[in-house]
Amino acid sequence: MSWNTSPRFVLFPAICFLALAGAARVAAAATPDAGAPPAADDGVSPNKACVQSLRERGVDFAEVPTKGVRTPIRLAGANLGSLRLVLLDRKAAGVMPVMDCELGRALLDAAAVFTNAGIRDLFFSGIYEYRPRRRSKKLSEHAHGLAIDVHQFGTADGRIFDVQRDFEQGVGEWPARDPVACVGSPERPEGRVLRELACTLLVSSAFREIITGDDNSDHDNHFHIESFPDPLSRAKAILSHREPTNDD
Ligand SMILES: [Zn+2]
Repeated sequence: MSWNTSPRFVLFPAICFLALAGAARVAAAATPDAGAPPAADDGVSPNKACVQSLRERGVDFAEVPTKGVRTPIRLAGANLGSLRLVLLDRKAAGVMPVMDCELGRALLDAAAVFTNAGIRDLFFSGIYEYRPRRRSKKLSEHAHGLAIDVHQFGTADGRIFDVQRDFEQGVGEWPARDPVACVGSPERPEGRVLRELACTLLVSSAFREIITGDDNSDHDNHFHIESFPDPLSRAKAILSHREPTNDD
């Protein structure tokens, strides 16, 4: 059997689709959501399902419309599930930067990866920053609030793993999906903790990109940890291989 491409069979479904789309627009216009924040300026409306998910998981945050960020939120404090996000900027006076809800959700989803490595605290320099990538005109994922630059990882009893000091570059394969090859042969236990963490985050379905000093010298002192922009792109990536973005 072959597809019937007679104009009648093409036109009728197209008319039905347009009629339904028009009705949906009228219905949407008639029921404005007074409580919702204005949509981001990219024309994509905020992801309410993500906001709802964070609320159900007990995260304390506010929605704060922000240029370039689809679903901008600001944590009320350092707590994000079992993790603590600690900003390495005293001038910020404890005010958390904006992030896209999807980054918060990804960190929550990956909380067990950090916990299994003994990590509770993520000391970071930045999340949202409206800027292009280095040596590029393309916007960084930081401009969309989807990436966090973590410089140190801390345990609940105050031990610090510092990326610049402790991450041992080039001692394993990177990027590699095989955990043994990826971790390789670090000389020090601190180096092993950070390589095991990076390698586990790399294969976690929560994140789109993990960039370390093994990628380039811009990352000698931090891990760039980046979430997917939405659940659909995350699902697609799980079903295919991931393309590196070379962000910073
Ligand atoms: Zn970064």
